[in-house]
Amino acid sequence: MTITPPAINSLTPPPTSHAQGWPGLIEAYRPYLPVTDQTPVVTLKEGNTPLIPVPTIAAEIGRQVQVFVKYDGLNPTGSFKDRGMTLAISKAKEAGAQAVICASTGNTSAAAAAYARRGGMRAFVLIPDGYVALGKLAQALLYGAEVLAIQGNFDRALEIVREMAENYPVTLVNSVNPYRLEGQKTAAFEVVDVLGDAPDWLCIPTGNAGNITAYWMGFCQYHAEERCRRLPRMMGFQAAGSAPLVTGEAVAAPETIATAIRIGNPANWQRAIAVKEASQGQFNAVTDAEILTAYRMLAAQEGIFCEPASAASVAGMLKVKDQIPTGATIVCVLTGNGLKDPDTAIQHSNNPFKAGISPNLQEVAQVMGF
Ligand SMILES: *Cc1c(COP(=O)(O)O)cnc(C)c1O
Repeated sequence: MTITPPAINSLTPPPTSHAQGWPGLIEAYRPYLPVTDQTPVVTLKEGNTPLIPVPTIAAEIGRQVQVFVKYDGLNPTGSFKDRGMTLAISKAKEAGAQAVICASTGNTSAAAAAYARRGGMRAFVLIPDGYVALGKLAQALLYGAEVLAIQGNFDRALEIVREMAENYPVTLVNSVNPYRLEGQKTAAFEVVDVLGDAPDWLCIPTGNAGNITAYWMGFCQYHAEERCRRLPRMMGFQAAGSAPLVTGEAVAAPETIATAIRIGNPANWQRAIAVKEASQGQFNAVTDAEILTAYRMLAAQEGIFCEPASAASVAGMLKVKDQIPTGATIVCVLTGNGLKDPDTAIQHSNNPFKAGISPNLQEVAQVMGF
């Protein structure tokens, strides 16, 4: 018997207002964002990233809890930075800018380059020489950024680009640009739109503390509009070698395998403290070993490949698991895609591949253990 497929024209369009597909976050959340009809929207259809349950990680907590990851590594350039960049670049274009500049541990430069080029602008990026993951550098170069590697760390690079933007015709698109946080807050909207309310905890890797500030803005705005009933506790996690928000002191020479959060003097320090206090949250540190354990668990048990910095949210949640109330709903933010940093994946997989096998069935079967 043959099965006849339905005729195409008998299909009804999907029951969504986005029959043309997801419109990108500026169109999706336009009433909540500082744009007008005059704003030229520069978009790569960022946002609308999945909230994925992670049951084997939830089981580690030993009580009945629900844990989800917000997989923002599925944005167009592979990190949440796209959320801020669509708005920052659209507003820069609206203001007539011809060039943008940023300091970056990598992901900001990839996002700035992609959106600036799409918007017809030049993109200058300052990176700390030798401390940017391979995939991110590859992106910035191919997207057409003008990449300047400086012999200093991220904090020094940020000081320089701030001065550049004050003295030269270039628009700063680091997270001190207020439009960045406005765009990034949409991730909190998406979490609430899926869960129907805010989670009890929001666990998030914290470097410059722009993203934790943006999420809190988003939850508060939705709360004020009565789109959620509760507000989460904001739990920020830093790498132990780079944890100024935990120790209360800037770190002159930050060190961690999680290069995206290798930041000793966060640009949004005061805001981060305000978020912690308003949400009854905390900042805690996780070691590189704890980060790598969570990184491997996410990939090998849940099928989710994130970059090392992103795994700090899951590592941190597990570290403070004794504080989690039974029945809680927790969202851990996975800020970037694992493909950004293939070197770390290969060096730390604990899973060496078997090389040098002769191309013969018996030998292959024997190596497989049959
Ligand atoms: C930028 C970035 C962070 C840190 O975000 P902040 O807003 O600086 O706190 C964390 N993870 C990844 C993958 C990033 O690119």
